[in-house]
Amino acid sequence: MKPKVQKTEEEWKHCLDPKQYQILRQKGTEPAFTGKHTDNHERGMYVCAGCGTELFSSDTKFESGTGWPSFWAPAAEESVEEKSDNSFLMRRTELLCKNCGGHLGHVFEDGPRPTGLRYCINSLALNFKKKDEK
Ligand code: FE
Repeated sequence: MKPKVQKTEEEWKHCLDPKQYQILRQKGTEPAFTGKHTDNHERGMYVCAGCGTELFSSDTKFESGTGWPSFWAPAAEESVEEKSDNSFLMRRTELLCKNCGGHLGHVFEDGPRPTGLRYCINSLALNFKKKDEK
């Protein structure tokens, strides 16, 4: 299925900063322990930096020790797309934002309960929206 948000490479370059562009549109990986969300413990929602779709809730975030923000489930199954990725001689499952096709990271099968999955996401692919304290 084609992503709903369709932009040319020029348009993406215009609306993303160069580091975000490299991750989301060129499938880059930020160096471990450099991302701003890795040690974020505030409650809220992580949204796609490309299109604003809600992707991961702080309720499913856990300490993986990998240096990347890690979650055991997406906020909604329909917002994340999985694709097999055999680059760098590794068999991995790539994660993409279904709404804009942006590269988010990978999912691995060594996560905690209840799912046993580890969604390993680049901080640069996410913006954090803090939950309003009421
Ligand atoms: Fe997106």
